[in-house]
Amino acid sequence: MVSAVERLVLSDVEVYPSAMARLRLTQKEKQILNETVERYHRARDRHGDRIVLLRDADLPRLFTVHQREVLKKFASIDPREYGFRGPYYGLHEPPRNLVAIRGQRYRRGKEREEKKVITQYAPRHVADAWRELNGRMKEEIGKELLVVSGYRSPTYQLLVFVNSYVRNNGCSIARTARYVTLPGYSEHGNPARQALDFGTKRGTYNGHFSRTQEYRWLVRNAKQFGFMFSYPRNNKVGVAYEPWHWRYCG
Ligand SMILES: [Zn+2]
Repeated sequence: MVSAVERLVLSDVEVYPSAMARLRLTQKEKQILNETVERYHRARDRHGDRIVLLRDADLPRLFTVHQREVLKKFASIDPREYGFRGPYYGLHEPPRNLVAIRGQRYRRGKEREEKKVITQYAPRHVADAWRELNGRMKEEIGKELLVVSGYRSPTYQLLVFVNSYVRNNGCSIARTARYVTLPGYSEHGNPARQALDFGTKRGTYNGHFSRTQEYRWLVRNAKQFGFMFSYPRNNKVGVAYEPWHWRYCG
């Protein structure tokens, strides 16, 4: 029989699997990191259709040894050192029931050209729930939602984090961790409670999403379709207010 103390230790191991430390980068590593992010953008342009499913085994094809070493450093950060308080969901391989969501387009303001959302994936039942929700929304208010981010593999999640650290958050882990979670902690990588980020057909998918009619409709109706709002203002897990991020709970 496992005693209470042993159980506690075991669950600690599960909760803090990669607890290493805080990140320290040399000047050289910072330079390598910038090159890594550039390469990531090139890879996104070239392999957009499957990039969200990227596996560790794909990395040697896309990044040099030194770039991979820097990425590894990020993978071993313990986000709890930086104010993140959410649960650890584990590193999941892409589930077998993923379906592709292709051909989504939006047009912002008076822009002539339509823009494409890169191919997204979601477990079939979650994609079905989103379609059903969209059907009702269209009937009621004449609008539909795009899935701007669905399932993300742990490897892709790491790249999203690193990109956001360099390009959007002034190379601050604490700031980045408020907007992007590290692999294993993301609801986007947790098919059991798959998160979807929604956007509008007018290209609104960030903080402004909360001012849209679509968002107000979601708040009233999402639950009927199995979607729950994950990150309200001042939430306990230390993630920023994310009106666009909903998880499927069935
Ligand atoms: Zn999200």
